[in-house]
Amino acid sequence: MNNRILRSPADLNSADIHELYTNFNVPIAGLDCGKMCAPHNPTGKPFCCDICAAVPAAHTSEWKALEPVTDLWHPWRGDECAEDPSSTEDRSRLEASVPDGMILLACLGPQACQRPYRLLSCRQFPFFPYVTSDYRFLGLSYDWEFENSCWVIGNLGQVSQAYREEFVATHDKLFALFQDEFDNYAARSEEMREVFAEKRRRIPLLHRNGGFHLISPASERMQRVDPAKLPQFQPYR
Ligand code: SF4
Ligand code: SF4
Repeated sequence: MNNRILRSPADLNSADIHELYTNFNVPIAGLDCGKMCAPHNPTGKPFCCDICAAVPAAHTSEWKALEPVTDLWHPWRGDECAEDPSSTEDRSRLEASVPDGMILLACLGPQACQRPYRLLSCRQFPFFPYVTSDYRFLGLSYDWEFENSCWVIGNLGQVSQAYREEFVATHDKLFALFQDEFDNYAARSEEMREVFAEKRRRIPLLHRNGGFHLISPASERMQRVDPAKLPQFQPYR
């Protein structure tokens, strides 16, 4: 089980949160990617909407904005994935990994999803803002732990331009307001460089200028690529 940590801003009020949601709302691709991945999940749910596969995390400001207006979310209890044999261990690990001011949540599930009330974490999955070692927000890269479950990761060319633009605009806004947001993603990007350097792999990037690139994790040199040549992963290859 993974948690999808979103280090969302601490000081936004409900109106700010709902405005962020309104401006980051376009579908990720021209098809329903949940229909592509769900058949490969034993639970039959899209992986990112399956509490047994990924536990969403939100800042308490999101929870405060959502709790009065929807029953979609409740605080994660840790007992909602009965089939998981390591749930006790996972529970401790997940709880320990949640930064101060954040909360793990669980939703009613994909059959009861209410799109206007999805967390920023739902909207950005499987991506995070990629930041270079000299602190430039270059574009979108992804949570590599989901390479073998998320269909989008192996089909980056299907991600819509509109989604990419809303992702970048949302994070530009957050980074202008909250330095710690930026610092957290810079650290996540550094972690990705270390992991990919060890695996001798280049990092796929959806560049904010609209292109597709592969980044060498050691030199950070970028090569523009045809999206059809980007890596694909089992079980979708
Ligand atoms: S984002 Fe990935 S895991 Fe989530 S529904 Fe789409 S393909 Fe499935
Ligand atoms: S709110 Fe919707 S998109 Fe987010 S995890 Fe739940 S079902 Fe998936």
